[in-house]
Amino acid sequence: MHELSIAMSIVEIAEENAKNANTSVINEIELDIGSQSGVVLEALEFAMQSAVQGTMLENADVKINSIPAKAVCVQCQHEFYIEDLFAPCPECDNPFCEITQGKELKVKSLKAE
Ligand SMILES: [Zn+2]
Repeated sequence: MHELSIAMSIVEIAEENAKNANTSVINEIELDIGSQSGVVLEALEFAMQSAVQGTMLENADVKINSIPAKAVCVQCQHEFYIEDLFAPCPECDNPFCEITQGKELKVKSLKAE
């Protein structure tokens, strides 16, 4: 269960931040998850439900933003959205591109009481 360990570290990060801010209840947590991060959103949502049990996030709204993957072609610098990691550049057909967005796996924001 890859997603469960991710969910648990997200909860840990959130609790750490809440403690630093002297708060004990988190109302809302927002996550940015890139489509190329290797995380299955549905599985993460499900994992979050069990990871928050008995924590400061027990009653928090969990919002998950899916970030589409973007790449830039190394040959013509064309920037495009990708669905398939091995898709060539739509402008020049070059198979080499650098991923510039879509590997996010982070806590975007936290709202506390
Ligand atoms: Zn290109």
